[in-house]
Amino acid sequence: MNKKGHVLNAILLALGLGVILTIDPRTFEPNRAETYVLLAQKIGQLSLPIILGALFPDVDTAFGKHRKTLHNLPVLIVFLAFPLVFDNLHFVWIGVATHYVLDMVGSKRGIALFYPLSPQEYDLPTGVATSSKYADIVTYVVTAAELVVLAGIHYYVISLDVSLADTAAAFTAVL
Ligand SMILES: [Zn+2]
Repeated sequence: MNKKGHVLNAILLALGLGVILTIDPRTFEPNRAETYVLLAQKIGQLSLPIILGALFPDVDTAFGKHRKTLHNLPVLIVFLAFPLVFDNLHFVWIGVATHYVLDMVGSKRGIALFYPLSPQEYDLPTGVATSSKYADIVTYVVTAAELVVLAGIHYYVISLDVSLADTAAAFTAVL
């Protein structure tokens, strides 16, 4: 996927995730102004880190091997660990993760998930060429699917509206 696709995906994901995390359809009261203030805050909090994260992996077009050096799970783990260790770069990992999803699902060439352990690139047969006229549509479809999955997890499995640092603290407290 090209830069435009990744930025579009990141913006829409931040907007959608902001809605998912702020508005619970089971208790939503459309007349409460407070909800919309919280919604705007949440989207503001999520958008820039997610967009920056979505831009990061393609830095390997200039440094290292494209679709390998910064397109792998060890890099994602670094971004997941960063908020826990340094208490900064929160939510950037979401942008990195969605970049990987879009590259694997939405474009022809895969990514080397286990690089540097293996140079093998993984891909789904759903992708279209980045120059294809369907590239934008594929981006919308992938983003919508991601939001459905995230909403399902948030509403039915575990609340996503907690910082990783809080989760780690709770986990440590249990231990
Ligand atoms: Zn990429």
